[in-house]
Amino acid sequence: MKQTNISVFIPHNGCKNTCSFCNQRTISGHSEQITPDALSELLKEQQPHLLKTDRQAQIAFFGGSFTAIDREYMCSLLEVAQKFVKEYPAQFVGIRCSTRPDCIDSEVLTILKSYGMTAIELGAQSMSDEVLLSNRRGHTAEDVRLAAGLIKSFGFELGLQMMTGLYKDTPDRCIYTAEEFIKLAPDTVRIYPAVILKGTELDELREKGIYKTFGFDETIDLCAELLEKFTQHNIPVIRMGLHASEDVENNMTGGVYHPALREIVESRLFLKEMLSATEEGGRYIFYTDKSNISKITGQGGYNRGILLGKNITFKIKEEKGTRLRAERIN
Ligand code: SF4
Repeated sequence: MKQTNISVFIPHNGCKNTCSFCNQRTISGHSEQITPDALSELLKEQQPHLLKTDRQAQIAFFGGSFTAIDREYMCSLLEVAQKFVKEYPAQFVGIRCSTRPDCIDSEVLTILKSYGMTAIELGAQSMSDEVLLSNRRGHTAEDVRLAAGLIKSFGFELGLQMMTGLYKDTPDRCIYTAEEFIKLAPDTVRIYPAVILKGTELDELREKGIYKTFGFDETIDLCAELLEKFTQHNIPVIRMGLHASEDVENNMTGGVYHPALREIVESRLFLKEMLSATEEGGRYIFYTDKSNISKITGQGGYNRGILLGKNITFKIKEEKGTRLRAERIN
């Protein structure tokens, strides 16, 4: 059965932090918060759709600071979510949230557990204290380690989120972050290349010429390396790059954003494998599962072009269940 998330965005109105990449300071007034009644309506509306399409959903409270919002409000939302999980266990199979590492303690985890929460994702962003400090995250790498350990000790599924290309970040620091994540044995990971939004400190630093994030190709190569590392440790990367959004498209002044980022990163990994399976000047057949064909040719034929530059040509043949098998034909 297909799994999905019913995402409920919970803004952190009145947040006292000033993360370099966040544009909340320039958003006038407060973002609208969903009421428990509206959440109930949303879930009531979704239930028959899930049933009809044979899908199961987790109710996901995203926004980044779920455990830092008003406690009474947080519990009122959880009460509604728990009610739906109990009434429709075949459609609503869990509750998840994302939050900051410094907003986790035993008390709040006990509350989340009592409402049947199943997974908690931490916006760790980096495991380099210099990067965290330079981007005013307000927490340290040690806070991430402590929160991750506590979340696991309560039996929740642990998710970790990282950003690449923040102020003072380097590809080596991103690799270090991934290695530190792996030590924490998360159940899932999300990777977000930094997107510079109008009105953020990152944008000010960019304008002053003090900050330049990673380029597109550098980000793709880096994300491919990160994906490979997590995959080798059987840690699923469940998201790469921000979801397609008009808001991001209209307000970004720099950084890396592409609606098909994941596909491009996976395609880069295939390129690496194709290069190591071939020799200059050869003609090949690549056998692969149908689902990999577009990743083998690459966006706009990128991979084919790189191989052609080495005088390597290839045809693709479908082979169910195969990732990549190369056969030389000359
Ligand atoms: S990203 Fe940082 S500044 Fe923005 S709402 Fe979250 S904690 Fe607050």
